[in-house]
Amino acid sequence: MQAAAEGGAVEREGARLLDGAALSQAIRERLAPRVEAFIAAAGRPPALGLLLAGNDPGSEIYVRNKIRQSEALGIATDLRRLPATAPFREALDIVEEFNAADAVDGILVQSPLPAGMGADAEARVFDAISPAKDVDGFSPVSAGRLVQHRAGLVPCTPAGVMALLDHAAVDIAGRRAVVIGRSDIVGKPLALLLLHRHATVTVCHSRTVDLPQVAAAADILVAAIGRPAFVTRDFVKPGATVIDVGINALTDRGEVVAIFGPGSKKLAAFERRGRVLSGDVHPDAAAVAGAITPVPGGVGPLTIAQLLSNTVRAAEDRRREDQ
Ligand code: NAD
Repeated sequence: MQAAAEGGAVEREGARLLDGAALSQAIRERLAPRVEAFIAAAGRPPALGLLLAGNDPGSEIYVRNKIRQSEALGIATDLRRLPATAPFREALDIVEEFNAADAVDGILVQSPLPAGMGADAEARVFDAISPAKDVDGFSPVSAGRLVQHRAGLVPCTPAGVMALLDHAAVDIAGRRAVVIGRSDIVGKPLALLLLHRHATVTVCHSRTVDLPQVAAAADILVAAIGRPAFVTRDFVKPGATVIDVGINALTDRGEVVAIFGPGSKKLAAFERRGRVLSGDVHPDAAAVAGAITPVPGGVGPLTIAQLLSNTVRAAEDRRREDQ
């Protein structure tokens, strides 16, 4: 209901709104009988091991939500915490313990790891996660399987975007898709998923020349940049489906007014809370788009739903392999 409170939905009138919160609920409802069947067959719940190192406030919120939603579905969780000063070896030890634990099906290492663990800490920790338990899909084995279009665990946010497109019956095969952002967790894997579904995919980034023009050729336009309201109506082909992955916290009143306008619900929400969320897509894009995701309430809820889905799938697959 945060979306309605912040006016995400209201301020994207014009385009059809792709409701990620409702789809996330439907995905969780579909997972519930699979969790029950797993518990009946295995004599234990599917389980997720989480590592939270340091005290990044955003990470605290993400991890709390992941645990709350896992447990609501009957997935057991095992949260390990490390202080920001912990040596990298301790993070690796926890991952190795989770790898070896028969009753742990999925492993999630919350990003970012503390800077003191070293610049390559995340890559090294993802290298260490057993591919069978890699529910975030960030390990090189998972990434390689995705490139080759082989079965494997797919990163949650891109999988959530595909679920949303399918649920909205958006045509993908033969269509032009433009993904702005080339990160390993969103842009690149999403480009591959769209490619595997026969879209003609262009990946854009900070060095792309004539970005608005390139974007305006897209039937499906995805913004995964991390810059509030960067994608304005000039980027959007009339009738295009626009997926806004960005989650940006605005704490400056002037910025809220500039993006959402002086009479907006977002500004009213900002006056109450001192903070609102903006996507990477400007609200004026909704006047041109055919369909668009709100922020919050679009891609965000689907990311956690896909994490739950990957965890249940990892549990089922591991049990099948054992038999
Ligand atoms: P990132 O910082 O790793 O990558 C950002 C990408 O944007 C880079 O590839 C960069 O080349 C591109 N970029 C930056 N400036 C640009 C510019 N001026 N023009 C064109 N491209 C530009 O970010 P990320 O982890 O991929 O996340 C992107 C956004 O998505 C962030 O707002 C993040 O909070 C959000 N996110 C949301 C979810 C979710 O569940 N909805 C999950 C992950 C990330």
